[in-house]
Amino acid sequence: MAEHSKRRLADKVAVVTGAASGIGRQIALAMAAEGAIVGIADINAGGAQDVEGEIRKAGGRAEAIHMDVRIERMVDDGINGFAAKHGRLDVAVANAGIQHLDTIADVSFEHWKDMLAVHLDGSFLTACAALRYMVPAKRGSIIFMGSIHSYMASEKKGPYVAAKHGIVGLCRAIAKENGRHGIRANTICPGFVRTPLIEFQLPLLAKERGVSEEEVVQGFLRYTVDGEYTTMAELAELAVFLAAFPTNLFNGQSIGASHGIHML
Ligand code: NAD
Repeated sequence: MAEHSKRRLADKVAVVTGAASGIGRQIALAMAAEGAIVGIADINAGGAQDVEGEIRKAGGRAEAIHMDVRIERMVDDGINGFAAKHGRLDVAVANAGIQHLDTIADVSFEHWKDMLAVHLDGSFLTACAALRYMVPAKRGSIIFMGSIHSYMASEKKGPYVAAKHGIVGLCRAIAKENGRHGIRANTICPGFVRTPLIEFQLPLLAKERGVSEEEVVQGFLRYTVDGEYTTMAELAELAVFLAAFPTNLFNGQSIGASHGIHML
């Protein structure tokens, strides 16, 4: 844990959705290490409890919250209960996400709707629940998880691309409406990060393209400035920075975080 006097989120209350795995888990660990009390919200209740245990073992404060971000009541109850218990909510990270590979012509309407439900409804519901605490308090930082796909498209990721573009619009609208209330909303737009969400695509794409998984990786990273994956640690550091930043300097912004794949 960071030394107490230097902690950037000392005694702040933060909720992170999709925090049982990957990027969300790393953000939760980093925020707890910086002194925040962190709500580990995830549809995977067991995974959220594991992350809660990991943070507590390291001396931090965390609480697992079982939440399906597609369901209004679960998001409201989860965020309300957590914020009410601690009397405030300073940071909300709308990070939960899924991936599905299909062309727009082939994707089923069910898959389309589910992609929008997890990413766009989930971001909307998380932000709305957070704003109920942040507006009266006149402070707060909402962080959305976009993607390079908030600004560009890839084949077979149409519903994901549409959802991630939508998140940027939602973020900007929230910034316009709430900046004067002391609330910031920004979107982190990562490139390729080696998490389960990316790992599951490698064998599928390798088989389909008739190449090795390593060649799929090379294809992913070809457009970076250094041939490197974006790391979870880098994104966690960025999320802590946005959570702790004291002014409206960054509000309604998309922060490209992709080793230069897309330059905003
Ligand atoms: P991940 O699969 O490791 O983690 C996603 C988490 O979201 C899981 O814990 C999962 O249980 C949870 N989740 C899924 N559906 C949910 C729901 N309905 N309600 C609550 N929780 C739910 O994936 P990741 O790579 O860490 O992705 C996190 C975010 O980062 C996503 O929004 C993703 O689109 C975005 N992102 C990832 C990459 C990448 O390369 N991995 C790149 C750009 C953006």
